This record gives sequence, structure tokens and C-alpha cells, in this order.
Amino acid sequence: MEKLLEINDIYTSFNTHVGEVQAVRGVTIDLYKGEAIGIVGESGSGKSITMMTVMRLLDSNGVIKKGEVLFDGKDLTKLSEKEMENIRGNEIGMIFQDPMTSLNPVITIGDQLSEPLIRHKSMSKSEARKKVIEMLNLVGIPSPEKRIKQYPYEFSGGMRQRVMIAMALICEPKLLIADEPTTALDVTIQAQILELMKELKQKLNMSIILITHDLGVVADVCSRINVMYGGVVVESGTSRDIFYNANHPYTWGLLRSIPNPKLEVKERLKPIEGTPPDLLAPPKGCPFAERCEYAMKVCFEGRAENYKINEGHYSSCWLNHPYALEIMQDIKRSVG
Ligand code: SF4
Repeated sequence: MEKLLEINDIYTSFNTHVGEVQAVRGVTIDLYKGEAIGIVGESGSGKSITMMTVMRLLDSNGVIKKGEVLFDGKDLTKLSEKEMENIRGNEIGMIFQDPMTSLNPVITIGDQLSEPLIRHKSMSKSEARKKVIEMLNLVGIPSPEKRIKQYPYEFSGGMRQRVMIAMALICEPKLLIADEPTTALDVTIQAQILELMKELKQKLNMSIILITHDLGVVADVCSRINVMYGGVVVESGTSRDIFYNANHPYTWGLLRSIPNPKLEVKERLKPIEGTPPDLLAPPKGCPFAERCEYAMKVCFEGRAENYKINEGHYSSCWLNHPYALEIMQDIKRSVG
């Protein structure tokens, strides 16, 4: 399979009045054509900032300090703003968490969806209208001819999210980035939206990056999963690796916090105690050490390099790391 996106060792920081927030620290993720992958982690893990780095949509105090983002062979970190404008919405579509804040409340749905077609695809107004109706049909909005004249407030939450998906897909992008696309929706609508994304991926042969804090959401859609914590990828592998053979204690914590409706005796969900690290002064050791019930001395001394568990499955944890003993001996020697 051919790679569509390669995020190589990206570092992104924000300069604030209290210092540099090192939000993303050496993230490497790749994505193949036609593949769906998930990026999972709590708020502040760096997952959305990694994608904002890809899209070059960082706030004005954000800086890409190092690394490259190869999309279809082009390094997006090196493109001009004008070149990026042509990629956003056209080659890469993005769905944001809250459709109400992403849709313009004073412009009709039809006009909002036509705009990228007129701009990127040089379509006439009537061609764009036809395409918008087709796309609204595809995402399951009934009576699209009538709905295109309406404003966002006239749509329910689920329908607005479908409009957002239609907007992200209208130019038939090669890549769809969906950032918590179902968080604001109830479980039934959430299931419908995820099913719709799966269907559209097949129909349009598109690649998808699904960003979420909920491992349960990616289970059915994504073939591979990257788990992020404290600005780094702590574990990556196929969905099967992550769900049935997870290696990193943070991934275990995320798995324990998914409700299991099949259990006969209901168990309380176990939250991960503690708070994420302060990225103004990230720890030199494992970012999860302060919250990890297995933390050892070595975990506070240095971060474990990613190591291979099996083909395509990597983790950065000292628990089963092949060099853990050697490193501990080095630490002991240096302490005397
Ligand atoms: Fe826990 Fe240590 Fe593994 Fe980090 S490296 S997850 S602290 S055992």
C-alpha cells in the first residue's frame, strides 16, 4: 500500500507569557491510502495539536519546531499559506467537534457548501448547487432541495454533524480528519455518524484520521490506533493489538474506562487517577510516571524508546522493554 501521510518526528510548541508549552514532542504517525486510523488520548495529550500542525491551523503563538509532514509527497510544513489554502478543504477535509461553532449561523447551508466548490473546483453556481444536493443526499439528509435554503439553527445536532461531514467531503478530499466528530451527540446518532463515515470511506476510497478520547469510538472504524499521552505517542498498533494485546499501562487505563454492555454483573468504570503532566516543563522520564501504578525508578529517569512488540505494534514503556535492565544498571553505576 502507498503512504498518503507521513508525520515524521514533529515537535510543536506554543509560546505563552509563562513559557514554552511543548504540546507535541516527537510524534511520528503514518497513514496509507484508503486506510482509517485513530489517534486516542485524553484532553491535552497532543492529538488535536498534531492534526492542527498537519493542517497548519495553529494559533498565532504556535510554532512547528522540528520535523516534517509529508502529504502525497509534499512537505506541508514548507508550503506557503496560499498553497495550504488550496490543500485545506480541497485535498484534506476536516470535521470539528462542535458543528454549531464551525458553521456560519447567518449563511444558508446551501451557500456554505457551495463556496468551496466555486473556489477550489471553479464550478458555476448551478453546478455547485447540484453537487451540494448530491452530497447532502449521500450523508442522509432528507429533502436536500428544501434544506439547502435553511440556516444551521434549523437543523438538529445530528443533522448539523452530517452537514459538517458533507462540507468536509464536498471537494472529495483524499484525507478526512475528524476531530471528536461524535462527542456532542447522543449514542444513537453517534453510531449512525460512525457508520456513515465507514460507508463514505468505502464509496470515496478516502483515508480517515479519527481523533477521540474514547477508544470505543475507534474500535469499529479504524484498522490502526495511535495512543497519545503528554505530547507523545506511547503505543501504536492494529486495533486488534490495542484491544487484545495492549502493552502500555496508559492504554490499559483507557481500556478500563470503556463501558462493557455485555457484562452480566455491572462493574464500576475505573477512571485513570491524577492529572496529565505540565507541558511547560515536561518530565524527563515517562510522561505517565506520576499516574502509573507500575512506575519504577527507571521511569522517572528517562523516556523509554519505542520498541517493537510484534510487526506494526510498538510501545514506549519500561515494563517489558528489552533495555530496561541495562538502563537500570547504568543508573545504579552512575549513582555509585
Ligand atoms: Fe508506567 Fe514506567 Fe511504563 Fe511509564 S514507563 S507507563 S511509568 S511502567
